[in-house]
Amino acid sequence: MSLDDLYQELILEHARYPHHHGTLSDATVSLEAQNPTCGDEITLQLKLEGEEQRIAGIAFSGHGCSISQASASMMTDLVVGLTAQEALEKVAAFQDMMRTGEAREELGDAVALAGVSRFPVRIKCALLGWMALKEAVETAKAG
Ligand code: ZN
Repeated sequence: MSLDDLYQELILEHARYPHHHGTLSDATVSLEAQNPTCGDEITLQLKLEGEEQRIAGIAFSGHGCSISQASASMMTDLVVGLTAQEALEKVAAFQDMMRTGEAREELGDAVALAGVSRFPVRIKCALLGWMALKEAVETAKAG
């Protein structure tokens, strides 16, 4: 099995059985994001705690293509338990990977999406959950 095949498997696995899928009853931030080009929609909820705005809980719901759903699932796995600042650094690393196509090991399962950078039309699908996270964290900071 090639690395590409393994990555493909991982993406399909997350799309089929997304992690942290659902809603939080005690969310402190809630945000909807859309990618009209593809029809992807995500509602992201966070429970942020303490001065560092640590992500104590995270959940997403919505629908869309496999890439958008898998990417959101991978993102939630990665950032749960991190502080807002650490989460923003992960978002920046993911954006960088989408721009350069260079695999970033610190992105956990989301490293499997590195190849999406070769398909500009799918990059927005992959970014959807991450951009929602960024906006949610920044909204919480400002509020
Ligand atoms: Zn999509």
